[in-house]
Amino acid sequence: MTNEELRESLLMAPKNGYARITPEQRAEMESYCKRYAAFMDACKTEREATSWASAEAEKRGFKPFAPGMAAKPGDKIYMNNRGKSILLAVIGTESLDHGANICAAHVDSPRMDLKPNPLYEDSEIAYFKTHYYGGIKKYQWPTIPLALHGVVARKDGTCVTVTVGEDEGDPVLVISDLLIHLSADQMKKPLAEGIVGEQLNVILGTEPLEGEGADLVKLHIMKLLNEKYGLIESDFLSAELTIVPAGKCREVGLDRSLLGAYGHDDRVCAYAELEALFAMETPAKTAVCILADKEEIGSVGISGMQSHAFEYFMETLCDAQNVRLEECFANSFCLSADVSNAFDPNFAETCDRRNNSLLNYGVAICKYTGSRGKGGASDASAEAMGHVRSTLDKAGVVWQIATLGKVDQGGGGTVAAYMANRNIVTVDAGVPVLCMHAPMELVSKLDCYETMLACKAIYLA
Ligand code: MN
Ligand code: MN
Repeated sequence: MTNEELRESLLMAPKNGYARITPEQRAEMESYCKRYAAFMDACKTEREATSWASAEAEKRGFKPFAPGMAAKPGDKIYMNNRGKSILLAVIGTESLDHGANICAAHVDSPRMDLKPNPLYEDSEIAYFKTHYYGGIKKYQWPTIPLALHGVVARKDGTCVTVTVGEDEGDPVLVISDLLIHLSADQMKKPLAEGIVGEQLNVILGTEPLEGEGADLVKLHIMKLLNEKYGLIESDFLSAELTIVPAGKCREVGLDRSLLGAYGHDDRVCAYAELEALFAMETPAKTAVCILADKEEIGSVGISGMQSHAFEYFMETLCDAQNVRLEECFANSFCLSADVSNAFDPNFAETCDRRNNSLLNYGVAICKYTGSRGKGGASDASAEAMGHVRSTLDKAGVVWQIATLGKVDQGGGGTVAAYMANRNIVTVDAGVPVLCMHAPMELVSKLDCYETMLACKAIYLA
């Protein structure tokens, strides 16, 4: 054998995804990405994603979960978990003691939540005080257009939805930064201290009400909120209002090969899972799609992946088939569908290029996340990786391997560990992202499309 022949038979030779997909797939990729962009424009919070998914599921014949319900092959069932996360299942022809094929993504993204008592006036400017949610670089959030999203539970027991800053005619909100002319001291600070958490105060207005009295700018803002939403100041005490970047998902690059949006992490995988599920006929194994909340702060809380809400849903399906939940979990597989960091040549020193995901090389499979010696990772087994590898190869999915940065450079986590703790074999995989957790994140259209194909293949495995 020549060295060339040996090289071909023994060594890996990864190829850019554009060299691997057909013209038909390329056209499908474009239309898939249009639908994904529309989803992103409609869903910037976990609540919005959950309502959107519930409505779409209803249209496609999914029935709301009810205790004691049947779970026969072909049945489509969903559970809206208190408006903040959603679990969907298509019941397979095999009994649930054979396990389920699960894809689990999250629909919460880093942002700035309003504090319980947010509204104040200083120097005749009205502001909202915020507390950031998830990991953000605080300096990235001033001087960009922001929008207000959320719900308020009013004193009278009704709940009102608030959205400001997304419609063409809406005003946007902004956090100020210091002019460069007076930034001598600020510019000497480390990036982490240039803007601090208590400076993430959102400007709401500057026009005082006519007449005499204190805080007339604040009073004016409260009057406007009262006229539009029927709110009084104490209603903020029972609200989930959040500040997110304003604006739509945009094509990026002269060749339009990328999508730029707030919150690709992890709605890009959430949408992939959903569309793959919606496209399915009755599978052999039951397919379960999870859009979880609270991943960005540790998968905690009633709507996070550590919540027993998942057991409640799965156990009800198992009960309907006289199957033990433990038996089902032991034979299940979970793709923890979450984003990875795309290699960025601008910051090459932070990554091991040989083991990092690249834009346009397809869905990125990640054996372990974690930090400092894989701490906190679920670290998938050789066999689990082998299962994913052969499943994706068989389905012709373009995929690549991923690790999160250089050893000891940092790290991260996903829902994988919480699924694996349930005795479910779990592997991380998802779309590579540039500038993850920034107000605008970038993903490649090709990787988005291949991730949807990967979810489809896993549901059918
Ligand atoms: Mn994520
Ligand atoms: Mn994240």
